[in-house]
Amino acid sequence: MAVAGVAVAIAAPIVGAAALAVAGLGLGIYLMGRCRHPGPLGLLPPTVGDDGKRQPAQWYCDGCGRSWPAGLESDRSPIVRFTGYDESKLPASAERAAAAERQRHVLALKRAGLGASRSEPALGSHNITSISGRRAG
Ligand SMILES: [Zn+2]
Repeated sequence: MAVAGVAVAIAAPIVGAAALAVAGLGLGIYLMGRCRHPGPLGLLPPTVGDDGKRQPAQWYCDGCGRSWPAGLESDRSPIVRFTGYDESKLPASAERAAAAERQRHVLALKRAGLGASRSEPALGSHNITSISGRRAG
């Protein structure tokens, strides 16, 4: 009987310490993995910081306050359709610019009440049908 009492007296602190260690380990594991982001997460929109750097869209967990990239970004680099300079377009472009300048000049003269009769052929009046002489019905 005395031997059993001695054995309990020796084993009890060891068992107690082991139980405490196991409980502490379990508590540590619980605290480390406490937030598994179970609830609905917030989606933070992409923003541009003060330094001009673009911050992509992020998920946000209100439970733990952490945020991480949402992975919704696509490649935003511009798509190059044309490069270089096409000299073959120069004559047509110059002709269009000259025609626009002539038309602007003619319209300015017409607004001023000068040379209206001279400007009408330049505007292509042969294609314009007058509606002032028409009457409905
Ligand atoms: Zn969380």
